[in-house]
Amino acid sequence: MTIFSPNMLKTFEQCQKKYYLKYIERISVPQKAGNFEKGKKIHALAHYYLRGDDTAGLETALTEEEYRIWEQLKANEYFQKTYINSEYNLSCKTGDFWVGGRLDALMRGSESYYILDYKTGAIPKNPESDFQTTVYLLAAEKLYTPLQFVYIDLKNNQSRLIEFNNEIKSGYEKAIIDICTQITNAKNFEDFEASKKCEFCEFKKICL
Ligand code: SF4
Repeated sequence: MTIFSPNMLKTFEQCQKKYYLKYIERISVPQKAGNFEKGKKIHALAHYYLRGDDTAGLETALTEEEYRIWEQLKANEYFQKTYINSEYNLSCKTGDFWVGGRLDALMRGSESYYILDYKTGAIPKNPESDFQTTVYLLAAEKLYTPLQFVYIDLKNNQSRLIEFNNEIKSGYEKAIIDICTQITNAKNFEDFEASKKCEFCEFKKICL
């Protein structure tokens, strides 16, 4: 059984051929570390901190910039809410399809639960309809209501709150069922449409 992750759905949306190479042929191509490494450190630190571990030793290994970002995250109003879980794997069935992923953190406020997603780079361009938002909200909503999603933009030190209700939920379910149906209907490399934006694609050498 395939559990479609937000990254799988976003890859298919971006370029169907890339989806085929990455998730069906399982070809992995090295990518530049840069921001990815910084993000990994902050995510790991946040997880240990939230679950109550002593993080003093880990903090000494941060660069000056990473330390500044870490201080920003600790001061964020949503990060300071009541901790429920972090690095939290959740999935749910939507139509005939399973979707799921790992939430950075789930917190509880006085009136709502909050899914937190920290970004050391940019937050999605359309956060309300991004598959990360939709998949996580649908998966967590089975257990936690009322629920909202918060992108914590550590690059610009601001938060973006995404509301969630039954009307929005129906739209999310439809979008997920539509894309999962498209994915499962495509069988061969030729069935997967190519993107026109190949310039910076890591699969360029093997695809074109
Ligand atoms: S080279 Fe172009 S068509 Fe091929 S996977 Fe990359 S973006 Fe898609």
